[in-house]
Amino acid sequence: MNIVKVKDYEEMSQKAAHLIVGHIISKANLVLGFATGSTPIGLYEYLIDFYNKGIVSFKDIKSFNLDEYLGLEINHPQSYGYFMKKKLFDHIDIKEENWKIPSGKIGSSLNECSKYEKLISAAGGIDLQILGIGRNGHIGFNEPDVKFETETHLVELDEQTILDNSRFFNNINEVPKKAISMGIKTIMRSKNIILLASGSSKADAVAGMINGEITPNLPASVLQLHSNVKLIIDEKAAAKIDFEKI
Ligand code: PGA
Repeated sequence: MNIVKVKDYEEMSQKAAHLIVGHIISKANLVLGFATGSTPIGLYEYLIDFYNKGIVSFKDIKSFNLDEYLGLEINHPQSYGYFMKKKLFDHIDIKEENWKIPSGKIGSSLNECSKYEKLISAAGGIDLQILGIGRNGHIGFNEPDVKFETETHLVELDEQTILDNSRFFNNINEVPKKAISMGIKTIMRSKNIILLASGSSKADAVAGMINGEITPNLPASVLQLHSNVKLIIDEKAAAKIDFEKI
C-alpha cells in the first residue's frame, strides 16, 4: 500500500484529482470506478475545474459507480445516480451512455448484479477505482463480515452505515436498508485503486486497514492484498496509523 499523507481535505481532493487527470491524459478511454459520499465531493470539484480549464476531457472515458441504494431511482435526490449527475456528470463532457450505476429499482435488482459485472468485463475491467472508507471499514457497501469473493451483490446495510448516512436524509427511517454494491472481488480486480480518507471519524478504520489483520470484519483491510493501491489520507484520518509497523 502506498500511503500519501496530506494536510487536509483540500489537499487530499487536489492530489486525487491530479492523479486521475494524469491517468486520463495517458489513456483517454480510461475505465473509472467512481464513489459517492462526502469524501469525493472536493475531488469532483477539482475534476470539473480541470475540465473547465481545458486540461482534460472525459468524452472517451467510461465509468462504473460502486453502489446504489435499493428502492431509490435515479431521480431521487438521495440516490447515488442523482448525486453523480449533480456533483460531476452534469458539469463535464462524459457521454450519457458511458456512465453506469447499479439500478436501484427493486424489481430489477437480482438481474442487475450479474448484468453489472458483465458490463464491467465488457469494458475491459476497471482501470482506476476511487474509494472512500466507512467508519466501520466498509468499501462500497461491503459491510463488515462480507465474503471477500463476492461480486456485485445485494447488501443489507450495517446499522452504523444507516446511522452515518442518515445525515443526508430527513430522518433515519428514510434511509434504505438495502443496496446493490460491487463486491470485494469486483473492487480487487481493478488495476489501480485510490482510497481517500479525511477526518478523525475515519482514524480507527484507516489504522485497522493499514496496521490490522486482513479480515472481513474490516473489509478495507483486503486492500493490503492489492498490488496497486494508493491511500491519500489527511492528517486527522492518519492520526492512529503506526508508521513504524508498515
Ligand atoms: P463518506 O462515506 O465519504 O460520506 O464519509 C464514505 C464511505 O462510506 O465509503
